[in-house]
Amino acid sequence: MYHLKHDRPIVQKYGGTSVGTLERIDAVAVRVAEQYRSGYQKIAIVVSAMSGETNRLVDLVSGINPRTSLRNYDMVVAAGEQVSVALMAAALEKHGVPSRAFLGYQLGVVTDNFHAKARIESIECAKLYKCWEDGIIPVVAGFQGVTGDLEITTLGRGGSDTSAVALAVALQASFCEINTDVDGVYTADPRIVSDARLVEQMDFEVALEMASLGSKVLHSRCVELGAKYQMPIVVRNTFKPNSQPRTIIMSSNPDRKLEAPIVSGVTLDKNVVRITLHNLPVRGGIIGSAFEVIAAAGVNVDIIVHNRSHDSDRMRVGFTVGTTDLSRTKELLEKWTLEKKLGAYVEVEDGLSKISVVGLGMQSHPGVASRVFSVLENEGIALHMISTSEIKISCVIGEKEGESAARALHKEFIAHDA
Ligand code: ADP
Ligand code: ASP
Ligand code: MG
Repeated sequence: MYHLKHDRPIVQKYGGTSVGTLERIDAVAVRVAEQYRSGYQKIAIVVSAMSGETNRLVDLVSGINPRTSLRNYDMVVAAGEQVSVALMAAALEKHGVPSRAFLGYQLGVVTDNFHAKARIESIECAKLYKCWEDGIIPVVAGFQGVTGDLEITTLGRGGSDTSAVALAVALQASFCEINTDVDGVYTADPRIVSDARLVEQMDFEVALEMASLGSKVLHSRCVELGAKYQMPIVVRNTFKPNSQPRTIIMSSNPDRKLEAPIVSGVTLDKNVVRITLHNLPVRGGIIGSAFEVIAAAGVNVDIIVHNRSHDSDRMRVGFTVGTTDLSRTKELLEKWTLEKKLGAYVEVEDGLSKISVVGLGMQSHPGVASRVFSVLENEGIALHMISTSEIKISCVIGEKEGESAARALHKEFIAHDA
């Protein structure tokens, strides 16, 4: 179990829906004020932008110039949290709690300089301790930071979770609470799979795979940080403040792995594009050179497939990236093939999604992959790419079939075990 130590701070993050209207901000402030009066005064609140706001800002900046620098992109999209932190501080004041809002740069949330997917390097906690000494509740903007050169950065979509866990680590908090619009982490997205089950306790390993495979409820880097620094993460529903069902993500007892369910979760990522380099000459170092170009731009490549027939001097390399990295990756590779005079060409396929099953129990149960393939084939779903690890199997399929695949795999592996 995780323990609440009164001398240790608590970090509470409220996501976009939780602060989506003035009424909701007010309701959160009432809850924090109750906690404050009952003695929890070392609370740091982290908030996201009001729901829909970051999308609106992304549309604005890409509407004016889809190729603008990521520096401009970050400056625009970081603005949503500036509004919500100050509204939350104002609501707390109204409910009798002295409060102070902070943007990333004001608190010294220092990141690297990979705009739009920056990583937090350090956080200055002195101002927060000073707030608590003075009986003030700090409200911190999620999602944003600042480089050593004072450039505004953002952490990637959904990044406020990571801001919160990083802050919890920096403050050596008891745990980090992620307050959202569902009761916790489920075995699949409850909005897609109606009989998905809430998982009360989840290992960091499973949570990390689920988050990085597209389960939106947690930003994957927040789980990475939680695992690295052993910071328990509690996911709960903002709108049911006193309810028990919730998820605690923490390190498991090693013995539990023996009895771990074969599959703990099914995730669907709709944000997948395939890029294929066709007609590449078979030449030493060519694949490395292509991926170096992409890596230098900070693009994360996911599943990679390489084909070459044995009698040909040409080959094909296909890989998936997230939709936000598509245009940059395509441009970079087209420039690279021209510069190197390779005679190759770049093909882009969208309309795809990635469905994955995740579970520690897969390590000791062979045959999961064949069951996954049979379920998808029985649904008439074509597989475009496959990738496996010890604890997950992922298949790239058509986007339209993503939700039915999630339901079918959940039924096969999870609902049947109930
Ligand atoms: P917030 O704005 O609070 O950060 P998000 O929209 O980012 O909330 O994440 C919460 C959403 O994640 C839920 O509404 C749910 O539809 C989705 N989701 C996807 N997979 C899961 C899962 N396995 N468990 C719970 N929620 C999930
Ligand atoms: N507001 C940001 C987004 O919509 C960060 C977050 O909500 O976590 O991506
Ligand atoms: Mg989120």
